[in-house]
Amino acid sequence: MKKIFTILLTLGILLPAWAQKPRPDAFPSAEETPAPKSLTMASTLEEMYQWDRYPTYEVYLQMMNHFVETYPDLCRLDTIGTTVQGRLILSLFITGTAETDVYRPEFFYSSTMHGDEITGFYFMLRLCDTLLSSYGTDENITNLLDRTRICINPNANPDGTYYGGNNSVSRSRRYNANGVDLNRNYPDPFGTEPLDSLQPENRAMIDFVSQHSFRLSANIHGGSEVMNYPWDSFTSRERPHEMADWWEEVCKRYVDTCRQYSRSCFRDVNTQGYIEGGDWYVISNGRQDYMNYYHNMLELTMEVSSDKKLATESLQRYWNFQSHSLINYIKEIFTIGDTTHTDTTSTDTTTTDTSHVRIQSMDAPATISVYPNPTRGEVFITTPLATRRVDLSDRPAGVYYIRVDGRLYKVVKL
Ligand SMILES: [Zn+2]
Repeated sequence: MKKIFTILLTLGILLPAWAQKPRPDAFPSAEETPAPKSLTMASTLEEMYQWDRYPTYEVYLQMMNHFVETYPDLCRLDTIGTTVQGRLILSLFITGTAETDVYRPEFFYSSTMHGDEITGFYFMLRLCDTLLSSYGTDENITNLLDRTRICINPNANPDGTYYGGNNSVSRSRRYNANGVDLNRNYPDPFGTEPLDSLQPENRAMIDFVSQHSFRLSANIHGGSEVMNYPWDSFTSRERPHEMADWWEEVCKRYVDTCRQYSRSCFRDVNTQGYIEGGDWYVISNGRQDYMNYYHNMLELTMEVSSDKKLATESLQRYWNFQSHSLINYIKEIFTIGDTTHTDTTSTDTTTTDTSHVRIQSMDAPATISVYPNPTRGEVFITTPLATRRVDLSDRPAGVYYIRVDGRLYKVVKL
C-alpha cells in the first residue's frame, strides 16, 4: 500500500497560488451577483420546451412530473428532501427497459447547490428530456440507458435559485435560506467541522446518497469554465488523489469534446480546462471531498459557464457545445478501473513555535476545529481559555493545522 503522507505545515511546497485566476467559487464579492441582461422565464411548460429560458419554480415541478407522465417506463421521480423554506429537492431516476440481469451501475448528476449558478439547472432539465426522448431511436443513448441507472438532481438549492420569488431567477443567490454556503457545510473527511450546523439540504443529500450506491457523479457549478477534480482540501502535491491520472483523462475528454464545438470554451482558469481542486483553490467542508472520501463515489466538480447567471440567449449555444460531453461523462462509469480507495493516517510530531500556539505537521488529525477560512494573515482563535493571535502573514499559502491551548484548528492561508 502506498503510504500517503501529507505535510500540513506546507512551507515551500505549494504551487504558486496566484498562477491561476482566483477561484470565484470561494469568494462571493457580494450576496447577489449582478444579473446579466436577460433572464427570461418560462411560465408554462410549452415555453420551457423552447429551451431558451429558465423555468419558474412551478414550471420546474411541472416538467419533472411531465417526464414521469410521458415516460413512465423509463423514469421515476424521487424527492431527496425539502429545503429550509419547504421547496422540493427532486431527482429523476432514468434507466432503459431492456431485460437483462446484468448489474447496472448508478450514476449521479447534481446541480446548483449554489443557487445563482443556474446554467447547470437548465442543462439537467434538458439532459433529462434528451435521454428520455432519444431512448429507442438513438442507439448511443439507448445502449447507455440499458446499461446504467442515471439519477439527475437539477437543483440542490432551490431556495437560493428562487430567492427573489418563484417566478424569477434574477435575484437568485449562492446561499440557502439560512444564508449558509452549502459547499462549505459538509462533514470534512480530513477532520474539520463546518462553521454552521448541517443544513437541511445537505442532510437530505447525505441521506440520499447513503441509500444508493452511486459510483460516478458530477456536481455542477458556474462562475468559471473548468473541470475540477479531487481533492479540494489539498494541492496535488500535498495529497494526490489515488485516481488523479484517471481524473485527468476524464476531464480532458470532456473539454476536448466541448472544443470540437466551441474552441474558446473552458479557458478562463487555464488553457487545458481542468485542474485539481486544491491546485486551483483550497477549500474545507466542500461536497466533493465528502462524497469521494465517505461514499466511495467518484465525484468531480464541473464549472460549466463563466457567467453564473448565463443570459438566456446563450443557453442554446452552451447546451450545443456541452451536451455531448455531458452524455459522454456518464459513460466514464465504464472506464473506472479496480482502484480501491485507500487512506493512511500517520502523525508527525514535529512542531514549531512555543508557548500556547503551535503550528503542527501531521496527517489526518482525529479531532479538529475549523477556523473561519480562509485568511491572508493574522487570525484570532478563541479557545475556552483565551483568544490567541496567530500570524500567518510570513508563511506561504496552504493548509495549516494549528494547536492552540491544546486544541487543533485548521486554517487555510491564501
Ligand atoms: Zn459554486
